[in-house]
Amino acid sequence: MHLTNDQLNEYLDKATHERAQIESHLDSCDECAARLSTLQNLFAELDSLPELELTRDLAARFTPRPSLPAQLPKFLTLTVSLQAAVALTAIIIAMPFIVQLIPVLEISSLSNVFIQLQTQWTTWLDMLSQVQFPTLPTFTFEISSIYLMSALVGVFMLWLVGNGLLLRNQIK
Ligand SMILES: [Zn+2]
Repeated sequence: MHLTNDQLNEYLDKATHERAQIESHLDSCDECAARLSTLQNLFAELDSLPELELTRDLAARFTPRPSLPAQLPKFLTLTVSLQAAVALTAIIIAMPFIVQLIPVLEISSLSNVFIQLQTQWTTWLDMLSQVQFPTLPTFTFEISSIYLMSALVGVFMLWLVGNGLLLRNQIK
């Protein structure tokens, strides 16, 4: 049995409890002695390498730009909150119209996806518990998912646009 690389490394680091065994193997085995001297040369070379200076200061990239205020001013925070509330209300009110605007084709493909997901889910539950689950009311499930998704997307878009305008005015 030859010495492992770990054993040789530990021997070089003087972090081994098998020092005597390793030394007796090294005395009798040219192959492991050669590996040890290769490792020794490698470490000596690594030690002799000069420390490299980074050409660019990486930390500078992550320090906040002083031009931006650390915290949003109070009136701005209030504006953003109000804006979000208004956006949410608008979305909820507009939702029935938005749903009507979505093409029928898209709704049917969406519901196909939902039905597939639901089938997968129930199959998985069945497999898991070996108990027959009653199928969920598909219609309610579809509509609420579409509502929720459109509402989230709409609020996000309004939020994004509104904040973009606010911040642009702030920086000017
Ligand atoms: Zn050996």
